[in-house]
Amino acid sequence: MAGGPRGGVDGNTSSARIIVLGGGLSGLLAAWHLHRRGCEVEVWEASGAPGGWAQTLPWPGPAGEVGYLERGPQGLRVGRGGALDRLLHELTLELRPSPPKGPRWLGKAGRRQPSPVTLTGLLCAPGLGIGGKLRLLAEPFIPAGSGPDENLHVFFARRLGEAFARELLPALVAGVLAAPPERLGLEALPRLKRLEARGGLLLGGLRAGPERTRLPAGGTGALARTLAGRLGCLFTDRPARALEPLPEGRWRVHGKGPAREAGAVVLALPTQVTAELLRPLAPEASQILEAIPRLDLRVWHSRHAMVPGWERGIGLLIHPPEGRGLLGAASFSGGDPRGVPGLLQLRTYVGGAYPVESALDAWSGVFRELRRWLPELGEAVQVREEACPGAFPLLEPGHGARMARVEAALPPGLHWIGAARFGPGIPDLAEGIAAWAESASGLLMAGRPS
Ligand SMILES: Cc1cc2nc3c(=O)[nH]c(=O)nc-3n(C[C@H](O)[C@H](O)[C@H](O)COP(=O)(O)OP(=O)(O)OC[C@H]3O[C@@H](n4cnc5c(N)ncnc54)[C@H](O)[C@@H]3O)c2cc1C
Repeated sequence: MAGGPRGGVDGNTSSARIIVLGGGLSGLLAAWHLHRRGCEVEVWEASGAPGGWAQTLPWPGPAGEVGYLERGPQGLRVGRGGALDRLLHELTLELRPSPPKGPRWLGKAGRRQPSPVTLTGLLCAPGLGIGGKLRLLAEPFIPAGSGPDENLHVFFARRLGEAFARELLPALVAGVLAAPPERLGLEALPRLKRLEARGGLLLGGLRAGPERTRLPAGGTGALARTLAGRLGCLFTDRPARALEPLPEGRWRVHGKGPAREAGAVVLALPTQVTAELLRPLAPEASQILEAIPRLDLRVWHSRHAMVPGWERGIGLLIHPPEGRGLLGAASFSGGDPRGVPGLLQLRTYVGGAYPVESALDAWSGVFRELRRWLPELGEAVQVREEACPGAFPLLEPGHGARMARVEAALPPGLHWIGAARFGPGIPDLAEGIAAWAESASGLLMAGRPS
């Protein structure tokens, strides 16, 4: 649905309506849970399409072949029985079988080595030494931590040893959150606390069961498109510009098109947009949100002749700062319908919280750096840069306490959700928003006429 009601004034003063601002995955997930509970919901999205970062965009091949790129995640990490798993079942989204994985590497000490996310890679891991490897075996016996403000380095050093945290963790974290582990709190990866509560990374992981990368037919963006289609209440090209408090905790939302009244408003927006909307209404919450650092990531999509042995896709993580700002790269598998037959489709990450050498400002420099680690890679036949400004909120140690202050400072009837609250990973967003909807729905339904 595009546009929405025309004209300047909307006569409907429904106190039952809930307006969700932001049609990224957070807003759509929130709307989905509320809709299922019988709430009257509408979603306002500023751009022309749903999904925010999680969109699959057309990118035709060099001869005009059908092809796509992923703006955000290339697939969905799904744990059995988790909120995302339940959602995919509920939506009966068609999923492609997970293809077997090709080589995964860690670039470190100037060399390409097996990635430590596999057992062989962990056992061959550079820099760990015998002591570091034996220390890994102690992980199941390490008690849960008690400090609320541990950073990721301290957490992993406590559970897996200092050698792991120093030698392997930086590349693993840079590849997911684009920042050094020392600058990130546990809120950036909420799953870690859940695993620790279930006996640790190994035992908790075994109890939770394996995670698999699932790919909806039509790309990751199909999740947002399906949610939007099922909801039938998404208004695109509808940026919210101001919130006006009304008596009895109701709100009027102003934006492009007519103002609309609602019993509650859910803010599922980038933090800076939320901070701007809240500035006149909740200055303390606005200031805290404004102060959350946002990381700019640069993503290069490129197509190359297929390299023999890489047909099942590759993954490369680089131990920072050895990549001079290049954090890693990953490709689709050769048979992936988003790619172009016969070509390797690669995605390369640059920047985030790491300084980038000026040579990497252009593709020629990025390609030169890539070739240091992937010498087999031929010249690109197609390249496209996608800048992702502010794409990742940096959830620093102490983030949990700051978020509690934001919650406490929000006026009644305003709710705040999103990647800066629940962590940027989509499984974490799905988990956080499902729990939020469970606890908030009573409050939100209170305004409904009986
Ligand atoms: C390059 C990249 C790779 C990623 N890889 C992964 C991955 O592998 N795995 C993973 O789990 N996650 C990954 N992520 C993270 C994940 O995609 C995001 O954390 C998630 O999509 C954020 O969803 P959101 O709805 O909270 O925010 P957004 O996607 O930012 O959505 C916010 C929405 O609000 C809209 N909006 C803005 N202003 C207004 C306004 N005034 N009124 C109304 N609407 C407005 C925006 O247009 C947008 O649609 C990746 C992200 C990027 C950028």
